[in-house]
Amino acid sequence: MKALVYEGPWQMPLREVPEPEPGPEDVIVAVKAVGVCGSDIHGFTGASGRRIPPMIMGHEFSGEIRAVGAAVTDHRPGERVVVQPIITCGQCINCLAGLPNICTNRRGLGMMTTNGAYAELVCVPQQLLYELPAEVSWEHGALVEPLSVAMHAVNQTPIQLMDTVLILGAGTIGLMTLLSCRLKGAGKIIVADLSPHRLEVARKLGADVTVNPAAEDLGEVVRRYAGPAGAPVVMEAVGVTATARQSLELVRPGGHVTWIGNAMPTIEIPMQQVVTREVTIRGVYAFNVEFGRAIETIRSGRVDVSPIIEQVTPLEEGPQIAHDLAKGTLDAIKVVLRP
Ligand SMILES: [Zn+2]
Ligand SMILES: [Zn+2]
Repeated sequence: MKALVYEGPWQMPLREVPEPEPGPEDVIVAVKAVGVCGSDIHGFTGASGRRIPPMIMGHEFSGEIRAVGAAVTDHRPGERVVVQPIITCGQCINCLAGLPNICTNRRGLGMMTTNGAYAELVCVPQQLLYELPAEVSWEHGALVEPLSVAMHAVNQTPIQLMDTVLILGAGTIGLMTLLSCRLKGAGKIIVADLSPHRLEVARKLGADVTVNPAAEDLGEVVRRYAGPAGAPVVMEAVGVTATARQSLELVRPGGHVTWIGNAMPTIEIPMQQVVTREVTIRGVYAFNVEFGRAIETIRSGRVDVSPIIEQVTPLEEGPQIAHDLAKGTLDAIKVVLRP
């Protein structure tokens, strides 16, 4: 089968590789749509260290069951599915506490050393399968995973009805955080990003105020709309030093900062700004119940994720897409590959 094999920083050629063989509890999914995630690009360049070559990336995907393992009785070939990509142990303290997203033994399909869906076929443990309703397209199915991440971030954050929320970053996760904050009853939503194009999509998706910090004083805009003390809630969806610092500077004393971005392993922040202002910083990772709910959120039309998908292209284009996204010469929010 054809697959994009990550072979080292900036190297992800299309290769012919052996088809995966299902274990007794596995299914083989023929990938119909797979999203290119920012974390894949940070892995592609080697910046995050979270993709260990040689491996196949791709964790945001939908597809059709091609074959099932000997012990699989609840699924059969032909079913439309969307795959929750995190494999958990079910036995560690976090799994037992109902927090499988932070399972100490977790592996992610398409992360670290585990193969994912930048391929024609992918082997998936059967417990990761969710039905993709007939009325949800393959491409929208590929957006269930990032929407789940944003819904989890918003679920973990205490947002009161009509709170002003500042979102730093208008990539896929930032924009889905915007949609999720709206669902949760946020008041004014301010979105900041350096890309005018992304800010335009943010406005299309319902942002009240958009700011380009390169052109405008972000602090002044936040104080104008949220009050002189800053925003009660700040969602950081970039994961670098500059935006982590902005999140602390622009939250009001006693406010809540949620860090979703996961690009730089280490950053330096002004600790006293947190301590003396009693700011709560919360890290959020992946999702739990949100995965199934994200499918229903899209199916029911409560959010429209269409404006986030900016390019749908064959798998073969993947190497060029990854290169252009990493270089910044392509400013597409979500690219979906169709194997
Ligand atoms: Zn992702
Ligand atoms: Zn576990």
